[in-house]
This record gives sequence, C-alpha cells and structure tokens, in this order.
Amino acid sequence: VAGEAKRIVLLGAPGSGKGTQAALLADALGIPAISTGDMLRAAVAAGSDLGRRVGSILNAGDLVDDATMAEVVTDRLAQADAGPGFLLDGYPRTLAQADTLADVLVAAGQRLDVVIQVDVPEAELVRRVLGRRREDDTEAVIRKRLSVYEENTAPLIGYYQELGLLERVDGNQSIEEVSRAILGALEVAA
Ligand code: AMP
Repeated sequence: VAGEAKRIVLLGAPGSGKGTQAALLADALGIPAISTGDMLRAAVAAGSDLGRRVGSILNAGDLVDDATMAEVVTDRLAQADAGPGFLLDGYPRTLAQADTLADVLVAAGQRLDVVIQVDVPEAELVRRVLGRRREDDTEAVIRKRLSVYEENTAPLIGYYQELGLLERVDGNQSIEEVSRAILGALEVAA
C-alpha cells in the first residue's frame, strides 16, 4: 500500500495484543511481521546453538542479552523480504537495542518510519496474560515478564516520543478496532 509507513516497530507489554496485530497488519501491508520471540522459540525447538543458549532465559521470563539479540535482528533484517519494510514485534526491548536498530537501519540507508505503542491498562494486561497462560507459564513468570517490560522496555516510549516517532494507539478495544486505529496511525506517520 503506497503512502503508508513501512518500517514499523510495535511496542507494547505482554498481553497488549501486539503480536496479533503484527500478523494482521503484515498481511494488509505486504511486509513481514518479525517476532524475535517467535524466532527464539523456533531456535529452542530446533535445538540450535542459539536455542540452547537462550532456552532457560525464555523460561524465566528474562531478557536475552543485547549482543545476542543484535545478531538475531541484524541477520533477519538483512533478508530480502525485509527490504521493502517490516513490522518488528518484540524488538527493541531495551534502549541499547533501540540504538542497535537505528545503527542497522542507517547502515542500510534506511530509518524507522513509526513506532506504534499499543497501550493497555495494567489490570487488563494481567487478566489477558493469565487467561492465555500455557501449562509451563507460572503466574510468577508472567508477573516477571510484566516487570521486565516496565523496567527495561517502557523507557522506549519516551525515547521514541522525543524522536517524534511515537504514535499511541488504544489497545483496550476489539482486535478489529485496534487494527483500524493502527492503520490510521500509519497513514498519519507516512
Ligand atoms: P515474546 O514472544 O516477544 O514475548 O518473547 C518471548 C521471550 O523471548 C521474552 O520473554 C524474552 O525472553 C525473549 N525475547 C524476545 N525478544 C527479545 C528481545 N528483543 N530482547 C531480549 N529478549 C527477547
């Protein structure tokens, strides 16, 4: 779709629905949804070197180190399908990762178009994440993920706001309404 932002970061807490939105929008926009969480889980399932290194970190709800994530995301963004654009879901998660992303894009003569913050109230996040919990997800791990988000990732909201890249979308509505709101924000940002 011409005239819309194409290099997009989706920012939101666990349970914000950003993964669902990334997949829906990728279809609508014809660009790949890149979920670093999915990539890491696939590595764990495949038993690769990377997977063996990160398995216990994922299970604990902690963050994989920035250097490892820089490799993962640099390789992925270098693939041909990400040339025209991408929706990043789950990266960056720290200020250092945001710097890495900016460096990777500058090296490719590109830049981010927009960062969409999918905003959902804390109480609703807890309700949603507990509701979709898998067998191996203890409530303690879920609360850990939320606190890791608050501490490490929430500061990215202010960081991208200062860069003039942030668009806030109300994530506390139906999937369709959130999609529409994001598409509207992408047009504004283009
Ligand atoms: P997600 O599916 O995005 O919730 O990611 C699942 C898990 O993968 C997270 O809880 C982290 O352990 C790890 N992970 C995914 N993306 C990142 C990232 N950008 N930085 C560090 N760890 C990550």
